[in-house]
Amino acid sequence: MAIIVKKFGGSSVADAQRVQHVADTIIEDYQKGNDVIVVVSAQGDTTDDLIEKAKEINPDGGSKRELDMLLAAGEQISIALLAMAIEKKGFPVISLLGWQAGFETDSHHGIARIKRVNTERLRNEIAKKNIVIVAGFQGINKYDDVTTLGRGGSDTSAVAIAAAMKADVCQIYTDVDGVYTADPRKVETARKMDEITYDEMLELATLGAQVLNNRSVEMAKKYNVELEVLSSLENKPGTIVKEIVKMEKTLIRGVAKDTNVASISVVGLADKPGTAFKIFNKLAQHKINVDIILQSVGRSGTKDITFTVPKDMGKIAVDALTAMKDSLKYESVSVDESVAKVSIVGAGMESHPGVAAKMFEALYDASINIQMISTSEIKISVLLSADDADRAVRAVHDAFID
Ligand code: ASP
Ligand code: MG
Repeated sequence: MAIIVKKFGGSSVADAQRVQHVADTIIEDYQKGNDVIVVVSAQGDTTDDLIEKAKEINPDGGSKRELDMLLAAGEQISIALLAMAIEKKGFPVISLLGWQAGFETDSHHGIARIKRVNTERLRNEIAKKNIVIVAGFQGINKYDDVTTLGRGGSDTSAVAIAAAMKADVCQIYTDVDGVYTADPRKVETARKMDEITYDEMLELATLGAQVLNNRSVEMAKKYNVELEVLSSLENKPGTIVKEIVKMEKTLIRGVAKDTNVASISVVGLADKPGTAFKIFNKLAQHKINVDIILQSVGRSGTKDITFTVPKDMGKIAVDALTAMKDSLKYESVSVDESVAKVSIVGAGMESHPGVAAKMFEALYDASINIQMISTSEIKISVLLSADDADRAVRAVHDAFID
């Protein structure tokens, strides 16, 4: 007998038929004698629809407290429907909102952090042999106000319960059947991985491989919660995310593409101390997350700095830099939104020379120009024209994974 945490995303519970199917999946585990705790997201596009409703009333979306109150309603609907489906099939079940399930968070509405999960209620319900259905994505702060954890937060809710309950496994059900070596819609030869490490998954999650929310992976790593990503439609094994995987020779675990990037160039800066500090300090004040940074060698007293930011931050960054033009003294600032980042991720590259060269060769063979490069211990990213991105992913995938 085990404690199993299962999380079902919005598409898995999108309509009555899907809810019934999820109920069957849950019951199957329960009938084997396991304690089953289930976390669900709002049905289908409910959260987006609720955000639209808020905008109809107030284009700015209103206060974050009220927005959380509204958004939390999405998960309230899905837990009740799922519990009803299980009840109808004749099994003991109870649905709980985030606060009822013990989710205590800080007060950052819309992006709250879980401080702890008070498991008393969960344990009581399990002791009564109930299947427990918990609303993902939500909690309560110290003022007893409802909070939400940020988009895609139900994965984090599931991992938090698994950690607090010391569950044997945390299964994340979604509409794909696991984590792939590249986007299978774009790369025919993409393969499903049986296993991946937390660090590799974190890099891929951050790079836009949208299977798991990256905060959930961070938390799983911290509390050593083994995750399984699997399909809610097909009954077959998915991808296991854990600390150490049986190291086969695969150097590169996956190739990811991120089109949510803009590159910003500041040209003709004074080549003297403090320039970079002033730029990035200003961006930090605007809470702009900078990724790749490139500074040219100073020539005749000037230098250029180019960096990338998330696309929606491009204009904000340019405005901030334009406002500093007099104090900073540069020739021009420009933004390019037609770029994409293509990255390879793999814990194996740490101990293998030549990985970068092989990636660049693959891009060269495909006549793709690299604009910027950045590396970490287990990742190499290149910035290139968005038009080349899919071709680049395929070329690099072919070079390493086929
Ligand atoms: N329903 C929330 C969202 O759409 C949380 C989640 O899906 O995990 O962001
Ligand atoms: Mg959702």
